[in-house]
Amino acid sequence: MKTGKKDSSWISEQLCVQAASTCNIYCAYCQNPPDGKMPPLSRTLAAIKKRGITAVSLEGGGDPAANPDLFRLTAELRAAGVSRFMLSTNAVALADRKFCARAVKEMDFFTVNFPSHLPEIYARATRSVKFHLALEGLENLKACGAEGKLRLFHIVSAFNYRALPGFAAWAAKKFSGMAFANLTFVRNAGRVENNPDLVPRYTAAAPFVKIALARFKLAGIKAVAQNLPLCQLRSFEGFSFEFQRWLRGDEVFEEGVAKGAASAACRGCGLRPACCGARADYLRVYGAAELSPSAKKPGAIRPEGF
Ligand code: SF4
Repeated sequence: MKTGKKDSSWISEQLCVQAASTCNIYCAYCQNPPDGKMPPLSRTLAAIKKRGITAVSLEGGGDPAANPDLFRLTAELRAAGVSRFMLSTNAVALADRKFCARAVKEMDFFTVNFPSHLPEIYARATRSVKFHLALEGLENLKACGAEGKLRLFHIVSAFNYRALPGFAAWAAKKFSGMAFANLTFVRNAGRVENNPDLVPRYTAAAPFVKIALARFKLAGIKAVAQNLPLCQLRSFEGFSFEFQRWLRGDEVFEEGVAKGAASAACRGCGLRPACCGARADYLRVYGAAELSPSAKKPGAIRPEGF
């Protein structure tokens, strides 16, 4: 549903382009695990030309920065009319300073999946020993003058939710010039496979998410919570990624993202037009008992300033 105003400075139509088929770590919460296959590039190029797409997000299955053909791919996309690139990566490959410097020249934004500032949580969440490389990759971005291009993407899972306030304090201090922090509630998809040991309850995670959002705000850093229903963000609804999309007049859900499942609570809720709701994959693990309908309308929410 489109309701809010359009802001032309914001890239609303950004095409996700699969730019990887393998990865260099093995996250337990990976929602889009690599399978070694890539769709034919010709189809993507044709879609870009037909729709006049100028902005793309380079994504997986897997990590695009681990793709040895990454820069050949960006050259082909540029030739098809793309002028703005976002690279989604775990930053491990950016530990190579030369590679990082070239990526900084090519990319407008880096969305870095970094699940913890604590090596022991990082090791459990990613099932890897590459914490120091990922951190070096982040530090290289900063050293290459690209801190302002950094969007920290933190998947909130059972591994890390209790450490969220500490993560926010750490990130705000270490990367104070970052563009944005996104706290996305884990989706029960890919490798998660209905495992409650990986998916926390909304009601368990939300208080920690709120403290983290407040810490980012106090540090002057823009932050959003994604895939977390508005009723779980009471008094912090203005930080909701989906609410912000609604406010701008975009579709509440990005292209290809599953919508919330139908539930009795949501049917009678005034916030529904701007809410992500609870996805069917969450309801499979915990049901809908935590959802709480509101008489409030989205227009009554005070938005955080972005
Ligand atoms: S009850 Fe449903 S629509 Fe209402 S805020 Fe909660 S999840 Fe969103």
